Amino acid sequence: MTLAETTTPSSGDSPEARRYNRIQRWLGVADFVIGSAFLILLLITGWTDWLRDFALRRAFQNYTLAVFVYLFLLLLISKALGFGFDYYAFRLERSFQLSTQKLRSWLWDEAKGFLVGLVLAGIVVELLYFMIRESPQHWWLITWALFMGLFIALAQIAPVVLFPIFYKFEPLDNEDLRRRLVLLSEHAGTRVRGVYRWKISEKSTKANAALTGLGATRRIILADTLLDNYAPEEIEAVLAHELGHHVHRHILKSILLQSGITLFGFWAANLVLHYAVDHHMFEELSDFANLPLLALTATALSLLLMPALNAYSRFNERQADRYAFESIASVEPFISSMNKLAKQNLAERTPSKWVEMLFHSHPAISKRVAAAEAWGRAQN
Ligand SMILES: [Zn+2]
Repeated sequence: MTLAETTTPSSGDSPEARRYNRIQRWLGVADFVIGSAFLILLLITGWTDWLRDFALRRAFQNYTLAVFVYLFLLLLISKALGFGFDYYAFRLERSFQLSTQKLRSWLWDEAKGFLVGLVLAGIVVELLYFMIRESPQHWWLITWALFMGLFIALAQIAPVVLFPIFYKFEPLDNEDLRRRLVLLSEHAGTRVRGVYRWKISEKSTKANAALTGLGATRRIILADTLLDNYAPEEIEAVLAHELGHHVHRHILKSILLQSGITLFGFWAANLVLHYAVDHHMFEELSDFANLPLLALTATALSLLLMPALNAYSRFNERQADRYAFESIASVEPFISSMNKLAKQNLAERTPSKWVEMLFHSHPAISKRVAAAEAWGRAQN
């Protein structure tokens, strides 16, 4: 039994929520292990060399085209290996009544997700090997700068180009809520470009809200499953939390943090590639059969940094929560919206300390509610 369970029995989670979250975590771990094992296998068996030669033959020895063929095959095999887990995850959501999506629609989403991933990875990987060939000395620095430019452009266009591939959005047409948002924004001395209704209900029964985009595309998106089932004061509390992210410039800060980590990542990748060439694993830096090695370096780095990045995210979430407490008349609707969200999304209110530390980007619901209650008491 975990610490959280023994100390707070009254706020314990239902066995259903515990089971759902435990399976979700195992799925994540299994997916990660299979993916990494495949990359390691490619390297130690030398299958990656075979795959490179195959790609070169298919591409009539054209390097750029061969890089793409190699990447396509790598992603296709990875998808095939992980597909069982993806399908299981889909069935899991259905069996816990968290998803309303039909198999056909889900398969279509899978196909679209694969294509979007292929296009994005294609751009990044082509750029990477082009720079390695053009500038073997400084490729990592130049690619990092280009990569960050792409990343920022992507963050900007995501709400208008990427998200609509999977969900429909429309401007919020609720006058009362718009008025509440204007008042909240005036209080914050800022302006968010828009609030959008995020039509999640076609696929899921879960509710969510987020602040997305950069500059002209900066917007708050609110799930219709939240808009249609929560009281105006509760939606206002959720809006105030998202506005807190905006006021505290969390997207900008996260991008800056990411850019530092990515720079370190590219520097480390350069070292790893040089080590591999020096030890005759590959003939040259630009041998794209080394892509699994690059992918493993990135995976290892993100795994090592995951607890720290999650801790940073939880810090931001607490800041946005505090902003919400300050902006709304009473913390009661915040507390009730948290409880509703936990129930609706089958979230664990009191995950074990370790699970929260390693995996959660948001503080435990029980802690967020406790913070709101403490704030409410301090105000009276
Ligand atoms: Zn948040």
